[in-house]
Amino acid sequence: MMLRQDSPVRETSLPAQVYSLTGLTGTHIAADFFTERKAAAMKEQKIRLLIVDDDREIGSILHDFLSKLYECTAVNSAADALAALAGESFDLIMSDISMPQMSGLEMMPHIVTLAPESVVVMISGQRMIESAIAAMRAGAFDYITKPFELAQVDAVVRRALDHREQLAGLRSRVTRRDAEKQRLLHALDNHDFVVYYQPQVEIQSRKIIGAEALVRWEDRERGMLLPADFIPLAEDTGLIVPIGASVLRTACEQARQWHDLGLADFCVAVNVSPKQLQEENFLKTVAQILDDAGLGPEFLEIEVTETSLMQNPEVGIKTLTRLREMGVKIAIDDFGTGYSSLGYLKRLPIDSVKLDASFVKDATSDPDDAALVMAIITLAHNLRLKVIAEGIETEDQLAFLRLLRCDRGQGYFFGRPAMSDEMTSAHSKNHHKRDVDFGNKPVVKEISAAGNLTRAA
Ligand code: C2E
Ligand code: MG
Ligand code: MG
Repeated sequence: MMLRQDSPVRETSLPAQVYSLTGLTGTHIAADFFTERKAAAMKEQKIRLLIVDDDREIGSILHDFLSKLYECTAVNSAADALAALAGESFDLIMSDISMPQMSGLEMMPHIVTLAPESVVVMISGQRMIESAIAAMRAGAFDYITKPFELAQVDAVVRRALDHREQLAGLRSRVTRRDAEKQRLLHALDNHDFVVYYQPQVEIQSRKIIGAEALVRWEDRERGMLLPADFIPLAEDTGLIVPIGASVLRTACEQARQWHDLGLADFCVAVNVSPKQLQEENFLKTVAQILDDAGLGPEFLEIEVTETSLMQNPEVGIKTLTRLREMGVKIAIDDFGTGYSSLGYLKRLPIDSVKLDASFVKDATSDPDDAALVMAIITLAHNLRLKVIAEGIETEDQLAFLRLLRCDRGQGYFFGRPAMSDEMTSAHSKNHHKRDVDFGNKPVVKEISAAGNLTRAA
């Protein structure tokens, strides 16, 4: 990281012994003391400047002045400058534009090759403004004209170094992003994306009726990553399209396997991102995957968020309409967290809304949330939509939702997202014994005829 020179000198923090030893007022001593310390710090950070001027006097003035803050090397010809650049790296190159043999302008393409990350400031003669502009076109960041004030030199150098720092930050962000994109691609090739399933329970009958597919990235170095860690970048880079298709394929194949195991009406819900929804081939992809898996479309539910629909409502609504025509079910995910009006619900070609976990969380303690949950369920039912409550964590929440005749529920109370085999055993136990038992972590021990749940210890 580069140190910046613009923090004011703080005399107040001068150690007492500096005053007592000198017996002076302290002001100048303090300024010198801190300037020196700052200069030392700058040197530690090794901000390196190369000064190139065939006028030895100017070269030496610049060197003496800038050496207070930076590590400077001064040379007197373009040839010496290029030799130095071939062997060392510099953060900033300050060069005279007109030199015999090779001008600063002629030197620019070599600098760009030898030191692409350096920033260049040209020193031009007063009447050489056109050349200075040409130098900037060739890639120099700024120029100063002779004769110059040292304060001006200071300001230009600082500006140029700030610019370089910003560029370096940008470059490293781009590099990091590229590297992460490569990782995503590699993970896709390597089948490192795995699909977990969270049970969805019919609240009144207390049966597991399906599962939501939730993607995870099992990274060899970093362990298991959650969607929040990689979906935004996948969205950004467009890689969500192949990743999403792979999740959809896995989930549909899994649902088909569950059917083959005798869980005949088991449904699978798959999250679909805005990019996928807007993608030209999305409908074909869904149809092909259902066909390949041999899964009836009525067993697939596509989840989209309100915000993703709002990005391009026309295309989104058209795609959802076609999906429904195919027989696929549509749910609005995280319902209530978007900014859209409730009125638009009736225009949407959907089957259900997923009541966001944030409403469920406080529904049993906050009357406002309770009122909202009630209103949403009533409104959805009046529009002949089903309601799936997300994030059910407690028995009280479940009881409240049951009272409001909420249709389906999902949450840690029933089971956390788990691998498909845990889901399989959970479902078969539930199917045969009416116990909801998720893998080796039974959550609900018993469900009475009245629908009361006894939690496992
Ligand atoms: P979502 O679709 O709303 O999924 C529900 C999230 O809530 C999941 O987080 C789930 O693990 C978590 N959850 C479930 N029950 C509870 C509970 O009782 N309490 C709490 N606090 N949380 C609960 P997860 O798996 O981290 O997924 C986060 C989001 O990532 C999902 O939200 C979904 O929007 C997105 N996502 C997941 N898989 C995919 C995918 O395959 N494609 C796309 N495009 N997005 C996905
Ligand atoms: Mg979802
Ligand atoms: Mg949700």
